[in-house]
Amino acid sequence: MLTPGLEFGTNEHLFIEGCDVAELVKEYSTPLYVMNENLIRSNCKRYTKFISENFKDGSFPCFASKALSCLEIYRIMKEEGMGVDVVSGGELYTALKAGFPADRIFFHGNNKTSDELEFALKNGIGRIIVDNLTELHTLNKIATENNLKVKIGLRIKPGIDAHTHDYIRTGQIDSKFGFAIENGEAMEAVKIALTYNNLVLTQLHCHIGSQIFDKTPFCDAVKVMLGFISDIHNETGMWISELNIGGGLGAKYTDADTPLEIEDYLAPVADTLHNFCKENNIPEPDFHIEPGRSIVGEAGTTLYTLGAIKDIKDVRTYISVDGGMADNIRYALYNAEYTVINASRNTGKVMDNITIAGKCCESGDLIQEGISLVNPQVGDILAVLTTGAYNYSMASNYNRITKPAMIMVKDNTHRLVIKRESYDDLIKNDI
Ligand SMILES: *Cc1c(COP(=O)(O)O)cnc(C)c1O
Repeated sequence: MLTPGLEFGTNEHLFIEGCDVAELVKEYSTPLYVMNENLIRSNCKRYTKFISENFKDGSFPCFASKALSCLEIYRIMKEEGMGVDVVSGGELYTALKAGFPADRIFFHGNNKTSDELEFALKNGIGRIIVDNLTELHTLNKIATENNLKVKIGLRIKPGIDAHTHDYIRTGQIDSKFGFAIENGEAMEAVKIALTYNNLVLTQLHCHIGSQIFDKTPFCDAVKVMLGFISDIHNETGMWISELNIGGGLGAKYTDADTPLEIEDYLAPVADTLHNFCKENNIPEPDFHIEPGRSIVGEAGTTLYTLGAIKDIKDVRTYISVDGGMADNIRYALYNAEYTVINASRNTGKVMDNITIAGKCCESGDLIQEGISLVNPQVGDILAVLTTGAYNYSMASNYNRITKPAMIMVKDNTHRLVIKRESYDDLIKNDI
């Protein structure tokens, strides 16, 4: 499997958007995050086009920037007419520094600090998505002190767990995120929010999971949330004007993954929303979603240099790369699957049962197990595909390894967007 924009050239090297990886490595070294800018932008355009054509005027998609946060990605999202959501003061700061319009930023998180809330309010952030009663009280206090009227959303648990195969409608009360509908918490939060003069409740939000390949749980979430909007109207006389169904559309990591096309997932969601509103006399809310992985995941490729080869007879072969869990922790964290290929050659004898290991002092520092590679040789460039989401954003300096550089490739050109960390960067806060 190759992701969009990748192909092998006649010299047997992998090319990404027309750039020979051998040239990229010569210029930028490894490990290297390579992002396909055309793919990021075309994914954004598919979301914005469908949503502007099929939902009310105030509707727009927000990029979930926890998937990839750096100045350049916020600039791209601004140019593509996206909103963004942030989950920390650091992501918010980066977005603002990139010149991202504050009113199109939604702020999430289950334990925003008072400092973060104050920072958000002073910068006129679009919505604060309130997670719990403590936050609701604190936010109202800060808004009152600063004489501000703040638009908020409420994070709701719709009782749909899209991670179980036959997803269930109960048992979701036990989550650290949001207010449950079924035990009355959510309605209580709505009623309290309505008594706070400095808060304006505009939005209901839910996020039912990640790496979802099926449209049904999203449609069911829309129905549950609209049902709750109707209940709120019955009890308080108010109509909620914005519905946000979070992120979660999957990306293709291996041939086993079968994500829906963006339009094929949005179309049934739009139908469900229009029909449910009509049947139940609900004024249509503005519609928001928050894709992360489905925008940047497949746009990313990590390049490593192949180092030590350790063939343990009758056991397995370890092939080590010059990165690992410090730049991609997802296999160590939850056995995430990846496609790994030899980017230096695509003909020759295939070696099987390979474990790709990182260079950290942890036995669990693996990138993938049980894979096959074409004739791996010391010094070859290895490519791990679909690393655009939750790789750089989860990177650490474990073992005092410097974080890799990131480049954008586009139409046969490449440019640096994040510099490789230096050893001096590692000690700059040490006293
Ligand atoms: C993680 C998250 C997203 C993005 O999820 P993806 O699976 O990357 O699309 C969106 N919204 C919220 C609130 C999240 O926590």
